[in-house]
Amino acid sequence: QYSLAKEYVQSVHETVIKRNPHEKEFHQAIKEILDSLVPVFAKHPQYIKHGILERLVEPERMVTFRIPWVDDSGKIQVNRGFRVQFNSALGPYKGGLRFHPSVNASIIKFLGFEQIFKNALTGQPIGGGKGGSDFNPKGKSDNEIMRFTQSFMTELSKYIGPDTDVPAGDIGVGAREIGYMFGQYKRLQGGFEAGVLTGKGIVYGGSLARKEATGYGCVYFANEMLKSKGTNFNNATVVVSGSGNVSIYAIEKAQQFGAKVVACSDSNGYIYDPSGINLNTVKRLKEVERKRISDYIIEHPQATYTEGCTGIWSIPCDIALPCATQNEIDEDAAKLLVANGVKAISEGANMPSTLEAIEVFLNNEVLFGPAKAANAGGVAVSALEMAQNNMRLSWSFEEVDAKLHVIMQNIYDHSVHAAREYGAEGNLVAGANIAGFLRVAEAMLAQGIV
Ligand code: GLU
Repeated sequence: QYSLAKEYVQSVHETVIKRNPHEKEFHQAIKEILDSLVPVFAKHPQYIKHGILERLVEPERMVTFRIPWVDDSGKIQVNRGFRVQFNSALGPYKGGLRFHPSVNASIIKFLGFEQIFKNALTGQPIGGGKGGSDFNPKGKSDNEIMRFTQSFMTELSKYIGPDTDVPAGDIGVGAREIGYMFGQYKRLQGGFEAGVLTGKGIVYGGSLARKEATGYGCVYFANEMLKSKGTNFNNATVVVSGSGNVSIYAIEKAQQFGAKVVACSDSNGYIYDPSGINLNTVKRLKEVERKRISDYIIEHPQATYTEGCTGIWSIPCDIALPCATQNEIDEDAAKLLVANGVKAISEGANMPSTLEAIEVFLNNEVLFGPAKAANAGGVAVSALEMAQNNMRLSWSFEEVDAKLHVIMQNIYDHSVHAAREYGAEGNLVAGANIAGFLRVAEAMLAQGIV
């Protein structure tokens, strides 16, 4: 049974590589999941018979489109837009939009593929999708951002809807961009369809605690891991990479739990503040003034700024929360963290650790919360936003936060149990992959060959 399952997984893996040449991030995400699923196919041969994996690795649909817009100097600019609608077995496609110059088909597919399992883990009725553009928001004026996002939505609007595909934010897409996109969608549609996007402003259908959800969720997940070893965040030294939406609210919750957060970063470099990061300064610099993190040391001279962002992992810490971007922790960074005594990693970004880095953590018995479990809080509250939109009501901050907390605890428990049941006790990478996969596979099996 086992060798049959192994052969099956291998042959699907080879097909994916052949069919999607040069897509290294997509290959990485596929490898991470497929390696965990062999024991599942050994136990459930009906999934092989029904070609679950062959179908799962091929997106249901992927659109690529032109985004023309005019910059402030009057020059015509063209960017490329993407939306991958990866899997709808559990509900409408759901997943963020990323605006970053690195965006290409490989990155969108890796993110979309991860999203299927992440969304399944939340227990909410949402399928997996992702989108974005190679547009670089850095240095653009507010008017340029608006014209670009309107042009982006003019094309994207043909493919989305509250019951088909519901985008949200990701890197480079926050409340401002969601607002402009919602305005454009409404204008094109001629109707107020609140549930077509999530991460909306509170006054026009957004959910309280959505902004905080990914960061808070990442810390709630880490807290469950720590609890299993009889410890917690209190008095722990924490390093958080990034200084965007995920990082800011991971720092906030870690501080509320009594931790000392000593570092954070942006794409240029990182700050180290031995007296503990002043979150109000970071919030103002990043959320209001849209400045660089290097400006932090102007107000806090006891802190230091270092160019380049991988150096942040050389800072000794008990808990590391990588909340910046994919592959920000490589094998060397992982070894350094371990050598400096790190006890837990909870991934707030998507795929921040390379496969080699994950090996290092697992082999050294570091508690490791993989992205699709640890950062699922954001999309989980997006699903709660959709629910509130459908009911035309809104829950209080405390209600949403309490639901988020329970969802993160459930994700942790289900991952622990799945790992145990399939012979990978203590390995949350395998556990999260298996627990997410089982929900999707069951739905796909029930819905026939589609
Ligand atoms: N971009 C986030 C993620 O990676 C959130 C997606 C959503 O809320 O739809 O899960």
